[in-house]
Amino acid sequence: MRPTYFAGGMVHVLETPIEFLKGVGPLRGELLRKELGIATFSDLLRHFPFRYVDRSRFHKIAEVHEEMPQVQLRGMLGALKTVGEKKGRRLTATFTDGSGSVELVWFKGIRWLQASLRPGQEYILFAKPSAYKGRVNFAHPELELAATWEQGLEASLQPVYSTTEKLTAKGLSSRAIWGLQKNLLLHVKGQLVETLSNELVEWVGGVPREEAFRQVHAPQDEHKLALARKRLKFEELFFLQMQILRQKQLLQQDLRGNVFTQVGEYFNTFYNEHLPFQLTGAQKRVVKEVRKDMGTGRQMNRLVQGDVGSGKTLVGLLCMLIALDNGFQSALMAPTEILAQQHYATISRFLEGMPVVVRRLTGSSRSAERKRVLADLQAGEVHILVGTHALLEDRVVFKRLGLAVIDEQHRFGVAQRARLWAKADVPPHVLVMTATPIPRTLAMTLYGDLDTSVIDELPPGRKPIRTVHRFDSSRNAVFGFMEQEIAKGRQVYVVYPLIEEGDPDKMRGVELKDLTDGFESITRRFPLPKYAVSMVHGRMDQATKDYEMARFKKGETNILVATTVIEVGVDVPNASVMVIENAERFGLSQLHQLRGRVGRGAEQSFCILMTGDKLGNDARERIGTMVRTNDGFEIAEVDLRLRGPGDLMGTQQSGLPKMYIADLVEDAGLVQQARQAAMRILDVDPGLAEPRNAPIARAMDDRMKDNMVWGRIS
Ligand code: ADP
Ligand code: MG
Repeated sequence: MRPTYFAGGMVHVLETPIEFLKGVGPLRGELLRKELGIATFSDLLRHFPFRYVDRSRFHKIAEVHEEMPQVQLRGMLGALKTVGEKKGRRLTATFTDGSGSVELVWFKGIRWLQASLRPGQEYILFAKPSAYKGRVNFAHPELELAATWEQGLEASLQPVYSTTEKLTAKGLSSRAIWGLQKNLLLHVKGQLVETLSNELVEWVGGVPREEAFRQVHAPQDEHKLALARKRLKFEELFFLQMQILRQKQLLQQDLRGNVFTQVGEYFNTFYNEHLPFQLTGAQKRVVKEVRKDMGTGRQMNRLVQGDVGSGKTLVGLLCMLIALDNGFQSALMAPTEILAQQHYATISRFLEGMPVVVRRLTGSSRSAERKRVLADLQAGEVHILVGTHALLEDRVVFKRLGLAVIDEQHRFGVAQRARLWAKADVPPHVLVMTATPIPRTLAMTLYGDLDTSVIDELPPGRKPIRTVHRFDSSRNAVFGFMEQEIAKGRQVYVVYPLIEEGDPDKMRGVELKDLTDGFESITRRFPLPKYAVSMVHGRMDQATKDYEMARFKKGETNILVATTVIEVGVDVPNASVMVIENAERFGLSQLHQLRGRVGRGAEQSFCILMTGDKLGNDARERIGTMVRTNDGFEIAEVDLRLRGPGDLMGTQQSGLPKMYIADLVEDAGLVQQARQAAMRILDVDPGLAEPRNAPIARAMDDRMKDNMVWGRIS
């Protein structure tokens, strides 16, 4: 919590509650806090304008049309007239410049306006044009006498602040907020302490901190504004990176890790005698990186990014065998039951004939079986435990947990990952595997305290998946295509949107109906006994789900009608067609994940995106991107651009910090520079002890006190 204003000792002026600012008071103060989260002076200063209007530029009336944003006109105010009765009563006037005239209209405050406006005088008008009966007019325009306006023009670039209806009603329009900012800047003059070293200030354009705030809230010109914004954005990004890197530093100092010195019997036997194929170069490299990490004596925190189908499971398995060679148990955690079951099956199959004990534990494990697994685990007789979130429960006690492999990391929350740590005296090494490629700049922020590896190579012989877009109206042709592929012995997925495993309440009736209707029309088109169709969705009980999945996996059914429960991880190499219904309703990363379910065997695979006829712009771009490329990183970049970082899959849970002025997408270049600057400084002066870094050290301390440090990510 924020320290209260009166809580003893020295509190910086910026921590003063907003109500004490001239022009605010208790009522508006409360409203600012509620509506915009502005509780202190410092909050107000960081309520940055979202755009600026150039008030030195004037439009001519003749060129104004209703689609324009706010415009500024200079002209003569004509006579005021009231028209209409009672509720329809309004005040009107014409406004004229050399090019033409428009009508102004007011519905409220008529008496006051009549008393204060001066017809026949020259005015500056500022407002958004609208249209009435086919003519441009202005409702409730901002008007200022040209003479006063000229005197008061201290800034030609006028900031525009976000505000709310409630605030505007209490007099806190964008313009009034601007007034408050100017009051505040006067009030705190000389007290906005520099937070960057001289070196950095120079490097980022030479604007000191206080000057930057002044220019952003009351810019003198475009150039100064741009420099000021850059400086403040850099500052925000720089301290974010400093915190992330500090955390990483602390981890590396404090966290003793188990030392895995040897690669032994288990690993070598598996590698030489059981591995059914050659590892790809990328797989080898990542295993080597992990081995190195686990041998240092520090706890490993590594993120492995690898596109769908790049063979992450095997990498995880090899690492778990290294743990076993060193006398440690491993845990493999998956985000869904289906995936956990599948990992269990895959790993058991890989390890067939080896004396490695693999067990599974999920939410649906029966209690007798669960008891036995738990007992064996505690006795150290289980080598590898595969499961879901159930592994995190307190009653799951390992004898000697050495490594946790977390698959499809974006489904795990921060707190859940932290619970892993409590399961051993020395925290286990953590290997996080994600198939959701994250653009570099975002990864730096989200996973900045993890080391990262990338599997950037697919196993050989894979044919790129062919992706097409089809409208619902060509469903018959799509069915025909499915028929052909099935005739060749292939299997087909048909996926419906939005039904989520583990959250059946979220499933709306409509969606279930979409799914069951779809299932019916497919079984009608592909009837028994020639065809068999499975269905899987999140509302089924686990046994039925398992049964249906198993039938499809074994090739006993030709088509699997499913929801997004199959989104991650499901691996059926013989399935070569993915039909996605209502594809416009899926996000890009979800589409990419779903598509990744095919293309796992040697056959040519296909992904068919079905949509309605009418597509919005975003949907069209998503579909177009999918059709154009198979590259997960490219797709992630488009996703980031379309949705913004806050909405990217998984970023909510991972706790992206609030940004006040910087934008992780728009300012990608600055993110990198901030990261590099932070690294350089911590490299040379890890304790921030050098005098020249004193401002940085002080700012970091303040941030700690302020509790603005966001929790560690893994
Ligand atoms: P993902 O990275 O999406 O989790 P998987 O681990 O499920 O990928 O692997 C995808 C498929 O590729 C599996 O069928 C797996 O057995 C196979 N595979 C993994 N590594 C290789 C390799 N080096 N050569 C050939 N096939 C591989
Ligand atoms: Mg996987």
